[in-house]
Amino acid sequence: MSTEPSRESSADPSRREFLAAAAAMSLGALPLSCQGVNANDATSKAEAAAKASGAPSSSARIAWIEIFPLRYPMTGYFKFFTGPHGGRGRAAVIVKITTEDGLVGWGQSVPIAKWSYETLETATLCLRQYYAPALIRHDARDIEGALAKMDRVIAPGFSTGMPITRAGIDIALHDLLGKLENQALCELWGKERGGPLTLSWTVNARKLADVEAVIAEGQRRGYRHFNIKVAPDPDFDVELAKAVRKAAPEGFLWADANGGYTPAQSLQVARRLADAGVDVLEAPLRPNQIRGYQALKRLGALPIYMDEGVVSEVELLEFIELDMIDGVAMKPSRCGGLLSARKQIELLEDRGLSWLGSGLTDPDISLAATLGLYGAYGLEKPAALNGPQFLTMDLSKQPFEVKGGTLAVPEGPGLGIEVDEARLARFLKEGR
Ligand SMILES: [Mg+2]
Repeated sequence: MSTEPSRESSADPSRREFLAAAAAMSLGALPLSCQGVNANDATSKAEAAAKASGAPSSSARIAWIEIFPLRYPMTGYFKFFTGPHGGRGRAAVIVKITTEDGLVGWGQSVPIAKWSYETLETATLCLRQYYAPALIRHDARDIEGALAKMDRVIAPGFSTGMPITRAGIDIALHDLLGKLENQALCELWGKERGGPLTLSWTVNARKLADVEAVIAEGQRRGYRHFNIKVAPDPDFDVELAKAVRKAAPEGFLWADANGGYTPAQSLQVARRLADAGVDVLEAPLRPNQIRGYQALKRLGALPIYMDEGVVSEVELLEFIELDMIDGVAMKPSRCGGLLSARKQIELLEDRGLSWLGSGLTDPDISLAATLGLYGAYGLEKPAALNGPQFLTMDLSKQPFEVKGGTLAVPEGPGLGIEVDEARLARFLKEGR
């Protein structure tokens, strides 16, 4: 599936690599609000860069990477999208990678400053100044090699560096690889497409009086399963869980604390949430509370899932061996992209643990990648993919449509979606 780049192209920087990297860097000097160039411009620039370098034509080499930061308009209340930054919409950086022969792959980085340390500004800067220049002339089919190059320009911390940011590159390379091979994601992985995927509606209520209306809206749109945002107030959380369970007695009820309890609180609230009808408890503690997770798992009141703390398969294996978890709430963007997410799902299944399908309020491109992954790997429980619930713009030519509380897995090569570039250009220029 992948091809190693030749030693010549990956070793000593040549004049052509310098020229191509310099061309990419020129985009980095533009302000965050800049527009990208259109496809024809990109292709001609890629051709010009290749011509200037005297490089032979090579269909899979990356010629050009464009970065489009923007904010998707939203509806409804969700705690992560509040305040001076989050309240302005769902931040996302669209990544467009063009090969030397003009084939395009689309990816998307989806930072949420209130969820992790990555922001619209840092994602844009790292993509423009670090990751994109490192990948010019790289063979787009070699995704492992691209990830290794990104490791060399921004070193890992505890785990993979800038995972949400680099997921935009990983997703674009998967889209390109699928188009090069004329295969959907599932076919690249030797699997069936799967789907449609049943969705879970997010109940993030500020007060109990709001709960009924939030649930009713979900049910009106065909949802039968609910995920609730809990912590830091256990009493409120238990009442919230009871209210949701009463409204949806048969639904899968998933509580996510986003690391918001203390270890002592979590031991008490796990029992109370179980009594209130909750099925699983996600991220009760910050991921560095290792003994707290072990105690919760030993308690056995509810299945315990991690989210924020699992970035690469390396720490996932450690957490499994330390007997901290029953499973993981997956989201490809948190993991640095699809390649790492696949390794984690396969590790969990190999160890007899389970995984849930989660997301980061993913818009169009990131949502397509996530659906492709979950469909191919046979996700069983309702997916907490709430982009369609909170976002009011979709940049794909055939926007995602929730039918009866389900989403279909896109068909076609790569991610299976087509980005509406005219719509993107208009939004970047006019903000609508
Ligand atoms: Mg979570």
